[in-house]
Amino acid sequence: MSVVIVGSVALDTVVTPAGRREEALGGSAAYACCAASLFTQARLVGIVGEDFPQEHRAFLESRGMDLSSLAVAPGRTFRWGGTYFDDDRERRTDFTDLGVFAEFSPVLGAVQRQAETVFLANIHPRLQLQVVEQMESPRLTLADTMNLWLDTAREEVMTVLDRVDVALMNDSEVRRYSGVRSIIAAGRRLRERHGLLSAVVKKGEHGAVVVSADDLFFAPAYPLDSVTDPTGAGDAFGGALSGYLDSQPAVSPATFRLAVLYGTVVASFVVQAFSLDGLRTLTRSDVDARLRELLAMIRVPEFG
Ligand code: AMP
Repeated sequence: MSVVIVGSVALDTVVTPAGRREEALGGSAAYACCAASLFTQARLVGIVGEDFPQEHRAFLESRGMDLSSLAVAPGRTFRWGGTYFDDDRERRTDFTDLGVFAEFSPVLGAVQRQAETVFLANIHPRLQLQVVEQMESPRLTLADTMNLWLDTAREEVMTVLDRVDVALMNDSEVRRYSGVRSIIAAGRRLRERHGLLSAVVKKGEHGAVVVSADDLFFAPAYPLDSVTDPTGAGDAFGGALSGYLDSQPAVSPATFRLAVLYGTVVASFVVQAFSLDGLRTLTRSDVDARLRELLAMIRVPEFG
C-alpha cells in the first residue's frame, strides 16, 4: 500500500511570537509526506528549483518517502512567508513566490499512478485535478484546500471536490464555502453537495470534527502549553490521516476515527518546533504514546 501526496515543497520564512526562521524547509507536501511516512510508504509529487538545498532532500529521503516524482526544474523553489500574532488575528501571508510552480504540470510514474490512496495537499486545484486524473483506481482520495483557492479558483475547487471521497477544510473555510455558521451544518452541506464519504473540519488547537454519512466524530487536539510555529499543522494532520488510512486493510468509521486522532497528535508535534523540526526524529512509538496520553485525558471511567 502507498499514498501519493501532491502539494508544495517550499522554503518558508516564518515569524511567530517565539522567533523567526528564514528559508526553512516547508510546503504542504513536505509536511504531509513526513507525517504520512510515520504510517506507510508516502510518494511525494511536486517540484523544486535547482536552488533547493541538498540537506533538505536528504532529510526528506531519510524519513523514508519516495521522491522519484519530485521534479527539479531550472529556476527558484517556491517560497512563502507568513507571520503569526500573539492574539486572535489570523495568520498573515507576507509573500508567495511561485518560482518553478508557475510552470508545473505533474507527471506521475507507474508506481505513483497505482497507489491505493491519494492526498491532494494544499496547492492550486488545477494541479490537484491533474493528479487525480492520472490515478488508476485509488481506494481513497482526500483533498485539502485553503481560502486563497476558494476566493480565486472556486469553480476548480468544486470540480476537485466532486472527484474525491474526503474533503478537509478548516473552520473558517468551511463556513465561507457553505455559507452557514455552524461547522456541523457547514460540514454536512459540504458533504452532501459533493457526495463525499466524509467532510473533515479542522479547528486548530480545538481539534477536528468529522461529518460522515454514518458517523459524527469530534477529535480533541493534544493540549500544549505553548506553540512555537503553527505552520504545517493542517498539512501534517491531513498527511497522518491519509497515511494511517492507507496502512489499514479497510476504511471503516472506526479506522477513520483513529486516523483523525492520529492527525491531531502528529500535528501537535509539528507545532512544537519551527519548520519540520518536530518530525525530524519522531517515531511511530512516540506518536502512539502521545495518542494514549490524549485518550487517557478524555476518559471518564465511571461512565464506561
Ligand atoms: P498550513 O500551515 O497547514 O496552512 O501550511 C503552510 C505551508 O503551506 C507552508 O509551508 C507553505 O510553504 C505552504 N503554502 C502556503 N501558501 C501556499 C500556496 N498558496 N500554495 C501551496 N503551498 C502553500
